[in-house]
Amino acid sequence: MPRPIQAFVHTDALRHNLERVRAAAPDARVWAVVKANAYGHGIAHVFEGLRGADGFALLDLDEAQRMRSLGWRGPILLLEGVFDMRDLELCSRLDLWHTVHCDEQVDMLSAHKTQVPHRIFLKMNSGMNRLGFTPARFRSAWTRLNQLPQVDEISLATHFSDADGPKGVAEQMRVFTKTTEDLPGERTTCNSAGLLRHASDGAVAADWVRPGIALYGSSPDFPERNIAQWDLQPTLSLRSRLIATQDLQAGDSVGYGSTFTADTPMRIGIVACGYADGYPRHCPTGTPVMVDGVRTRTLGRVSMDMIALDLTSCADSGHGSEVTLWGKSSSGSVLPIDEVAQAAGTVGYELMCALSGRVGITQD
Ligand SMILES: *Cc1c(COP(=O)(O)O)cnc(C)c1O
Repeated sequence: MPRPIQAFVHTDALRHNLERVRAAAPDARVWAVVKANAYGHGIAHVFEGLRGADGFALLDLDEAQRMRSLGWRGPILLLEGVFDMRDLELCSRLDLWHTVHCDEQVDMLSAHKTQVPHRIFLKMNSGMNRLGFTPARFRSAWTRLNQLPQVDEISLATHFSDADGPKGVAEQMRVFTKTTEDLPGERTTCNSAGLLRHASDGAVAADWVRPGIALYGSSPDFPERNIAQWDLQPTLSLRSRLIATQDLQAGDSVGYGSTFTADTPMRIGIVACGYADGYPRHCPTGTPVMVDGVRTRTLGRVSMDMIALDLTSCADSGHGSEVTLWGKSSSGSVLPIDEVAQAAGTVGYELMCALSGRVGITQD
């Protein structure tokens, strides 16, 4: 029997979250962001649940190729654009739309030999200072692109730095709107936080939105709001089993460094999951976990392959019991990935993406 740890991708939950996102931005088309192998879920595993999107946005050309080989013939957008000249040939061959965020990418396009002009998303740096042309340089980039025979339609893009926080998007939106006022073309602005928090109040205008994390059932502004409050469902569940139990006496300690010591007699379980599976080693004693769908807590340090769990509230559980590290138990109880991420001092995004190769993923 293989080691009992396994991840599950929930197709119904992906569909539900996509509908939820559409409802939040009903006038916009939706790029489902599937970068980083669909936030660790596996592109092939999410395709069925997300194929109702209007397009797929990603970064790696081999992921674009995988989308095409899955049979997707609709739009695909490269969020960072091309990395070298050869990528442009692939864009022509696979009909990929691509971001242009710097002069070097305009240079490459102007030297590219293609029969079919490319659909471009010209990116503005409206304040995040990561990718894009500054407002002062945006127009000249647009004019230069517009003169190239290699370029078909030019759409306009920007990315918000603070859609999930108190600073908000108003200033970046003002800069973007003002600079692009009289330019033709479709606009794309929002990530998950942008569209859930700001689309309904009309603060952002977008022909296309670009949700990622919300589709995967993690709240973009946790702990301000959790997935239940956003009506999102977990799409990735990490489950394993108890492979041992121990009965502790008061004064007994648990695991490397003896960082947890029992103050009364208690029963603990050992789950087959550790940091080599992608579970964060930083999770302290008290990190939430479910045994047979019942919430309890981790004890002591996370080791490479195992974690100790408190079975005080799980009297009927023992060797072989199901453990849900995050997501949904097979009985339907939910432990949001955001709560585990918070205990580790990180975000749901990082946990999803860090799931290790030795964890098999099953679509259900
Ligand atoms: C990753 C990414 C998104 C999606 O962001 P979420 O916070 O996961 O919704 C949108 N736009 C760009 C440019 C991105 O890189």
